[in-house]
Amino acid sequence: MQIKIGTRLTLATLLIIGLSFALFSPLLRGDEDELGLLLIFSLFTIVVSLVLVPLLLPWICTRDLHRIQDAINGIKCGHYDLTLPIGPEPADPGDEYELNRLKRDIHWMQRAIALREENAWQQSRRIAALNETLRIEAITDKLTGLYNARYFWDAIGECFTQHVQSGEPLTFVILDIDFFKRINDTYGHPGGDQVLAQFARKLRASTREQDLVARIGGEEFALILRHLPSPEIPACLKRLHRELREHHIQISPETRVQITVSIGYYVIERQHLASSSTLTTTAKEVVKRADDALYWVKNHGRNGVMAWHELDHDYREQRLKLEAGHAD
Ligand code: GH3
Ligand code: MG
Ligand code: MG
Repeated sequence: MQIKIGTRLTLATLLIIGLSFALFSPLLRGDEDELGLLLIFSLFTIVVSLVLVPLLLPWICTRDLHRIQDAINGIKCGHYDLTLPIGPEPADPGDEYELNRLKRDIHWMQRAIALREENAWQQSRRIAALNETLRIEAITDKLTGLYNARYFWDAIGECFTQHVQSGEPLTFVILDIDFFKRINDTYGHPGGDQVLAQFARKLRASTREQDLVARIGGEEFALILRHLPSPEIPACLKRLHRELREHHIQISPETRVQITVSIGYYVIERQHLASSSTLTTTAKEVVKRADDALYWVKNHGRNGVMAWHELDHDYREQRLKLEAGHAD
């Protein structure tokens, strides 16, 4: 049985009147001046009320109000686990103590908000994971798992900035598989795909962690070598070329393929940058130079490594004119 606020107030008032009557009754025995006695009784009741009401208020409602206030403050601060002492729900809702109903509603609200927050948090984690997946997909070549051309072109700018700050040489390398069309013709497109995927794996395994490796075209790959002293670069690329050439690619239990690759590269030293107007054009020029060196290898028997600075002067001039012609 729950006592509602109105009933509590009535009971408290009756208690006060009863008490003051009990205390006042000895005076009633004199029974001479009724009006004066009534006045004294009233005054006495008022005084007792003023003394007792603050003591009775917690029982009437303030203790529950404070608990409700605490729970609401908790909700405001994101704490949904502050427990409220809640009486059982009576069969007839009309019989329920008003503040008990309020406490039950607040408890329900606490659980509902906590549940929604948990859902929102899980949702945001799912979105963050999805974003990360999309970000990785956007910069990854699906077939080989290497960086794609888009990432490569974005990364060049960053590499240049780092290069300008550190002054360390930066090497751009372009690799193109020789006669890849024949692989497709012999083993079909799926066979060609397997060759590309396994070649990419070998390329990644043969380079250092800090080297950027990307697939920038069908059977064309690019490397950006950082933190590698200039004198070590030719030997490093020759070793890479040999490893790729000697690698056996297993495309089925009974079929093994060996391929050759042509490599062109350009080393950018600090002094080269000084003459460049903007970083973007420099990046394009540098890749173009590596491409020129690759083109030279393709025209001189393939299966080799060439640096732009090793090309003879006439050949470079010829390529520059060709480029200018394209630009016009
Ligand atoms: P070169 O030595 O001059 O580079 O000759 P190549 O045959 O390697 O070069 P070419 O440009 O003539 O042919 C490249 C071939 O690569 C043609 C194209 O069908 C194939 N290719 C491009 N992308 C893919 C791919 O994702 N998968 C497969 N299987 N083949 C591809
Ligand atoms: Mg090729
Ligand atoms: Mg090609």
